[in-house]
Amino acid sequence: MKSSLALAALLVTTPAAAQQADLLIWGGPIYTGIGPDAVEAVAVIGGKIALVGGKAAAQAIRGPRTEVIDLKGAALFPGFTDAHAHLRGVGDRELTLNLEGSKSAAEATNRVKTYLDQRKPAGPVFGRGWIETGWPEGRFLTRDDLDPIAPDQPVILGRADGHALTANSAALRAAGITEATPSPEGGAILKDAKGRLTGVLVDNAMALVRSLRTAPTPADRRAAFEAAFKVEAAYGWTGVHSMSVDWADVALLEALDVEGKATLRVYYAVEGAQAGPLFTGGPRASPSGRITTRAIKLYEDGALGSRGAALFAPYSDAPETTGLVRTPPETMRASMTQARAAGIQVATHAIGDRGNANVLDLYAGQDASKLRWRIEHSQIVRPADIPRFAALGVIASMQPSHAIGDLHFAPARLGEARLAGAYAWKDMLKAGVRVVGGSDAPVERGDPLIEFYAAVARKDLTGFSAPDWNPGQKLSRAEALKLFTAEAAYARFAEKDLGTIEVGKIADLSAFSVDLMTAPEADIPKGRAVLTVVDGKVVYWAD
Ligand SMILES: [Zn+2]
Repeated sequence: MKSSLALAALLVTTPAAAQQADLLIWGGPIYTGIGPDAVEAVAVIGGKIALVGGKAAAQAIRGPRTEVIDLKGAALFPGFTDAHAHLRGVGDRELTLNLEGSKSAAEATNRVKTYLDQRKPAGPVFGRGWIETGWPEGRFLTRDDLDPIAPDQPVILGRADGHALTANSAALRAAGITEATPSPEGGAILKDAKGRLTGVLVDNAMALVRSLRTAPTPADRRAAFEAAFKVEAAYGWTGVHSMSVDWADVALLEALDVEGKATLRVYYAVEGAQAGPLFTGGPRASPSGRITTRAIKLYEDGALGSRGAALFAPYSDAPETTGLVRTPPETMRASMTQARAAGIQVATHAIGDRGNANVLDLYAGQDASKLRWRIEHSQIVRPADIPRFAALGVIASMQPSHAIGDLHFAPARLGEARLAGAYAWKDMLKAGVRVVGGSDAPVERGDPLIEFYAAVARKDLTGFSAPDWNPGQKLSRAEALKLFTAEAAYARFAEKDLGTIEVGKIADLSAFSVDLMTAPEADIPKGRAVLTVVDGKVVYWAD
């Protein structure tokens, strides 16, 4: 009843109803993000939502030039935004050696061998995407795996989480790394029981091989973005908050937008060390507003898988370490002070409980609430620190898929007691914290349906979850939807224009073959995107 009253109100107050629609969408449940009821139709005029309601009302503004899309039962939502991804990395994944899905060290090695045999690349070879979770070898990929297939050519392969890599002996030699090389601050050069290098470099130690990589050319960057736009639209994302961005990529994406080639709405958080021009110039956007840059990305600690996350107490499965603080607090404070003065949002990576507490301490006394500062991942948090997020107005930017990947090793790393505040998105919401959802692609696949499923099911894709994996942290469907729509809009200062399907808002829309509000849990990740609309323009349609 309520929704039909609201509809009547919209029709009398909307002058657009007299005009002809550019785009009409109907034929499936349309969830506006406001209230639980679905509506029948949405109309778009001039890139904005002009009507939300019944099919008859929509029919009335259909004209000869109106494009009509029949959802054929698919479900339409406000545009899904990935609030934490690495956009150029998503494109690079399409264009370079990709080891994702390797089920063993042997398989990963074989895939590298095939790549070398087929492509015969010159110079150092870079790839990424291996992760040892579930491998029968029960260990990281090492140089001993790679040396037989690449004795002389440097090969460097990033772990999927981006917080560790494996270099073969040729790469270690080329970078001048020996057993005598000390681990840098905030990083680790891993050795085996005999003190031999394994080739695995963790966090800040990864920089030791960076010199082997030639910087991507502008053409490489452009190709990667164009690949990323395609992938993201086909997944159903209308927007992304892209993290740890090179300053050079800001102008490039703005230029792509002017050329009409940026089919995704992008919100940029620039790598802290390159943020000088942003501090000087302040928040900026392309003329269309499609590409907005008003945040910086800082790193407090590392990741849990590679034991770089900063914990208060030692790792349960490695009592000699409590993880790594990657950036000294003075450096963090200096960046935050500059950001505050320039009206810039700060997004800080923090995974461990000590890492998160440190960042909350640093944010206190800044304008964290007004400038909507965020903690990226907010992954393992002391339960006592959860209310501090709310009190300081700090946004928790969380990635549901991390919880369903990490459930296989996090209990071993943390022990049962620390799981209480781990991936605790429901407790965050209960405490009044704003939670925004993302995928961290290319660390994870970056499929909104996997993220949504992880948020509501808290089980891996086979349906498995450990009994101690706190099922009480599952979200309702409506809560999960907000993470990727309304809250994603708030976290980029765009709640007036984005995040719900309402008359007057920008027409960013996502449709999926599964009804996320009603489908059985296990069916959600089996669905696919069918329609992606940005600024009222269809950028993907799997008709
Ligand atoms: Zn990330």
